[in-house]
Amino acid sequence: MARGDGTLSHDLLPGEKGPQDACGVFGVFAPGEEVSKLTYYGLYALQHRGQESAGIATSDGSQILVYKDMGLVSQVFDETSLEALQGHIAIGHTRYSTTGGSIWSNAQPTLGPRPDGTVALAHNGNLVNTEELLALVEERHGGQSRGEIARGNTTDTALVTALLNTEGSLEDSLAEIMPRLHGAYCFTLMDERTLYAARDPQGIRPLVLGRLERGWVVASETAALDICGASFVREVAPGEMLVIDEQGLRSRQVIEPKPKGCVFEYVYLARPDTRIAGRSVNESRAEMGRRLAREHPVEADLVIPTPESGTPAAIGYAQESGIAYGQGMVKNAYVGRTFIQPSQTIRQLGIRLKLNPLREVIAGKRLVVIDDSIVRGNTQRAVVRMLREAGAAEVHVRISSPPVRWPCFYGIDFASRAELIANGLDTEEIARSIGADSLGYISEEGMIAATEQGRGALCTACFSGEYPVSLPDPVARAQGIPASANSAPLEHRTVKEPA
Ligand code: SF4
Repeated sequence: MARGDGTLSHDLLPGEKGPQDACGVFGVFAPGEEVSKLTYYGLYALQHRGQESAGIATSDGSQILVYKDMGLVSQVFDETSLEALQGHIAIGHTRYSTTGGSIWSNAQPTLGPRPDGTVALAHNGNLVNTEELLALVEERHGGQSRGEIARGNTTDTALVTALLNTEGSLEDSLAEIMPRLHGAYCFTLMDERTLYAARDPQGIRPLVLGRLERGWVVASETAALDICGASFVREVAPGEMLVIDEQGLRSRQVIEPKPKGCVFEYVYLARPDTRIAGRSVNESRAEMGRRLAREHPVEADLVIPTPESGTPAAIGYAQESGIAYGQGMVKNAYVGRTFIQPSQTIRQLGIRLKLNPLREVIAGKRLVVIDDSIVRGNTQRAVVRMLREAGAAEVHVRISSPPVRWPCFYGIDFASRAELIANGLDTEEIARSIGADSLGYISEEGMIAATEQGRGALCTACFSGEYPVSLPDPVARAQGIPASANSAPLEHRTVKEPA
């Protein structure tokens, strides 16, 4: 669909936004390397995590330069801009907005003053206590906004940048502020001489450390290490800070880890060629498909994915069920990358901008269509209608995650609670609403088992309502979460359906 800035988003239909990730981060310390180009390719590998803006900051040891703009990594940077970004330290960011709108002043990395220089910060995740942090900024700076906040940056990242402007080393400032941040954060940050990385104590979003021959890389996903030739070393631990300078790499466990990795990274968000907590994302998705086939079998002729995100689970479903696998729809992968507004005629075709059926494959067949999730249901309704128009005899929809009933506050923009189709309708009603002959969701247990992680080490809040980091009451109220359900201790608050 067309956005206000004239670009087409990845949304299939007006009013139907799929789950959106909240950014990718990258950092590199590598004397003798072209760090801006390493960061460019790292961000290229993380483009799926955010397509609204991109930015890179570099330092040569004495000065930080930053270049950022709205658009995709390939639209923002060219040889000339990368050439200007000299140095041996760099951080980079691709953005999808959660806190703060999609405008230039909210693009990252953010820059802020420090007593001894400048800090540049890139953030993946979303903080839930921004009101508290804003009050802290005002308390510390006497109500006078400085830096990016004064220039109109409305993000939680700008608040953190402002709070890093304290006496002492940047390392100590970061260690001091980390325990005051509630929610999800993976940071890459730098001053003129040092690269830092930090992860929230729940480790909600992924962050990994890699080794180059002449330096170190930190990135949201292992796929970004692969693209720049870095070997995987380990994950940045929840609650850990890394400090990388000419002396090498140091680690500081700032907060006791309480791991709660986002299960939706395995379902949809991360690239299939990424590994999280030692588990291949592609293999997790294929296993979700195999389990889905056992939990919700159906007599059919062909298993097809909703491309691309449903593909590994569809392969798994076909393997387990013995039903043939085929490609029944072709995705136009570049639709989200044009600045040309669709004409009225094209817009009315809706989903055809993005997906087109292969009639000769699906005509007369009983289909099993595999998708990763249902948010509002508009996409699945359009897919089912399109497949029937193309001659499908039956359309059975299978979903490789449980019903999404709760909003995410940790960096994924699903929809408000009222907009979620599974918040109010049961599975049969949803099947009727989207026009499917049958509908089956994988169980929560099946999804978790496919990740090979313990239930206690995962956030499943959008499915279960169990929020691992407490929500300030105004935030919960704004999203329709009952106040009575949001009164558990700050560290672990569980939200249940009202009786
Ligand atoms: S609420 Fe859902 S999407 Fe958000 S962090 Fe938890 S599991 Fe991930």
